[in-house]
Amino acid sequence: RSNNLQGYAPICLGLEDFYIRRLYLRIQDCFGRPIASAPDAWFDVVERYSNDNNKTLKRTEKKTRCLNLGSYNYLGFAAADEYCTPCAIETLKKFSPSTCSTRVDGGTTTLHNELEECVAKFVGKPAAIVFGMGYVTNSAILPVLIGKGGLIISDSLNHNSIVNGARGSGATIRVFQHNTPSHLEEVLREQIAEGQPRTHRPWKKIIVVVEGIYSMEGELCKLPEIVAICKKYKAYTYLDEAHSIGAVGKSGRGVCELLGVDTADVDIMMGTFTKSFGSCGGYISGSKELIQYLKYTCPAHLYATSISPPAAQQIISSIKVILGEDGSSRGAQKLARIRENSNFFRSELQKMGFEVLGDNDSPVMPIMLYNPAKIPAFSRECLKQNVAVVTVAFPATPLLLARARICISASHTKEDLVKALEVISRVGDLVGIKYFPAEPKKE
Ligand code: PMP
Repeated sequence: RSNNLQGYAPICLGLEDFYIRRLYLRIQDCFGRPIASAPDAWFDVVERYSNDNNKTLKRTEKKTRCLNLGSYNYLGFAAADEYCTPCAIETLKKFSPSTCSTRVDGGTTTLHNELEECVAKFVGKPAAIVFGMGYVTNSAILPVLIGKGGLIISDSLNHNSIVNGARGSGATIRVFQHNTPSHLEEVLREQIAEGQPRTHRPWKKIIVVVEGIYSMEGELCKLPEIVAICKKYKAYTYLDEAHSIGAVGKSGRGVCELLGVDTADVDIMMGTFTKSFGSCGGYISGSKELIQYLKYTCPAHLYATSISPPAAQQIISSIKVILGEDGSSRGAQKLARIRENSNFFRSELQKMGFEVLGDNDSPVMPIMLYNPAKIPAFSRECLKQNVAVVTVAFPATPLLLARARICISASHTKEDLVKALEVISRVGDLVGIKYFPAEPKKE
């Protein structure tokens, strides 16, 4: 059932969903109360995001302030920013919160055009189209790009929005082992001969879909190898940069910049504005012809209300800061800070004996818990000590690969991170998730 291997579906043990579910319930039985009802273990309703760039959040129930290690606020642009926030407020006054119109019926403002130009320039492609939601960008675009008679080859850990888009397209779906170029090549070779012209093969079109940084793994895509294989077999490359755009690369331009891949070799570049840019929405960037085609045909462009003007302004402003066009060096400092923070936090966790997934430079850092029954204990004990982490389990991960997923921000200070490490270390001892011997501390 290869389709079931997509996205965050349960892939462990090769069992059917039904059996996985039963096994999950048995585990709940063994460890007491159902996991989902464990009291005090989860983020409760957030009363407000702080004005310290969403570095902390205030919880309603406990009236406490927690260090936020769960937000995608990679560059610290969420909440108050000295440059972006006043610009967004001005835009709110000028354009109102919503255009209340679709892009083609009065919902395209000067800001929307400016945003698309700005995004295309930033990611390094000739043109871009923006949407009000990142999830919809994947799920609505894939069915426009490909349909029956086409083939989508998808990484086994691609995000649910990609899985839904792929399923909705009607194309045939094949899955390759997570971030394994050799397996991608094997799958391609099963379908077509190397060098076979596009017009002489059984598929109208082949699209290979990967992510820049995998959101549950913190891993960088093996993009140079994947791009080379796509070129060899004349398949299109679709790259979701939700977690990498803005967050990695010398000037924040994502995995292509970080890994030295020419953006001309990636056909369809997708990303979201909900992470590094502290806003909402998503984009597709590609050739002028591709973007024009999408503008004429994509229902999410033609029939959905356009992205909110203050949100659009927030993206434009944050890109200006990243590029230093606001007249300050804050952008460069943020990029340096997120890299330093991520590498520091990851290496300290490893030294403590935790099993941490992902690559250097990635701000996404899963700490393996394995046993789903350890989730509430880990989360609750961290919250008790005012550190908020996101824990992830089935069906977002395979059943027995539960984890805590830390997201590092440029707005975290060294003191914040040291404090968080102390808390996580204590909780790690308590819950029993230090799977490796700790490195002796240097005097
Ligand atoms: N793609 C990936 C890889 C994601 O992780 C997410 C969500 N975090 C999305 C797309 C959807 O983006 P959004 O939350 O902006 O709707």
